[in-house]
Amino acid sequence: MIELEDLDHIREAIVILKGLEVEGANKPGEKLGFKKGKNLMSIFTCKEMDRFIRDVQERKNFSLETNAYFFELHSKRFVSLRYLPKKSLLFVNDLTEERTLSEAKLDFVTAVSHELFTPLSASKANVFLLKDIENDPEKLEILGKVERSLDRMETIIRQLKVLTMIQLRLYELKMEHIPVEEVVHMVLEELREKIESKKIKVNVFVDVETIETDRFVFHTILKNLVSNAVKYSYPDSVVEISITGERLSVKDQGIGIKEEEKSRIFERFYRGSEALKMAPGSGLGLSIVKHLCDTIGYRLEVNSQWLVGSEFIVHFK
Ligand code: ADP
Repeated sequence: MIELEDLDHIREAIVILKGLEVEGANKPGEKLGFKKGKNLMSIFTCKEMDRFIRDVQERKNFSLETNAYFFELHSKRFVSLRYLPKKSLLFVNDLTEERTLSEAKLDFVTAVSHELFTPLSASKANVFLLKDIENDPEKLEILGKVERSLDRMETIIRQLKVLTMIQLRLYELKMEHIPVEEVVHMVLEELREKIESKKIKVNVFVDVETIETDRFVFHTILKNLVSNAVKYSYPDSVVEISITGERLSVKDQGIGIKEEEKSRIFERFYRGSEALKMAPGSGLGLSIVKHLCDTIGYRLEVNSQWLVGSEFIVHFK
């Protein structure tokens, strides 16, 4: 039998329910308005309230993070709600402060990247102008290198912004049925220059019309994996993309990953020793892929053999 006083020191609100009525709560619970005899609907409300009430009535597990309005506090709090029907317990964790801090961090990264974009765009525009008036092939080559470096800087800033957003759990998934072939072709079009310059043959196998997923997540995962497959492949080799209702796989015949490096490839900014020599990169791509998979609940598998090739598989379930 749970003694509520023993739970007063716990930061999380713990509420014992009898149907929709509060039977008792620890101190943090009472502070949020969970007082004995009160009905849940008169304590707080949120976007998902109907589903929450139905699940409590039908005694089903419920777990969610959401913005909820608490009537007694007259304020909106960002909370995680967890309902355990077996014990008729409701756990409410007030995450408002963490959320505010996360938003401040994201604001900072967004502001810095915005500030960096302005001089970057100006530099790009000037390089473009110089290229237009320059005829000397040597100078044009140098300008080309400057242009590529500026492009890479732009990519790194964009990637850092995405990664920060996902790591702070501020990216909200938008699930919809997306046309798989269309996304694959979009990604291949975006990477066309890279693919053609190395004369890579890309074989595509898709056996589903649509997949229920978040378009940005799916697109970003696929683009990063295909981009790496092309980047770390030898010229004239084959990259295979295969997508079914259960999984997505990108396979290459490239340099592969050394055994001792496999555990590090998902770290932020980590780049393999041979990868460094082979192609430019930021070391952020796989970190983004990993975090996106965690966010949406996909499992990532890597099969790779040094100097033979790699296969990255994303299991949807
Ligand atoms: P980047 O490609 O910019 O270095 P990533 O985070 O995408 O950064 O990848 C991290 C490292 O994982 C790479 O530097 C490389 O060593 C290894 N890697 C990723 N994909 C492949 C691949 N398809 N084949 C071989 N090595 C790979």
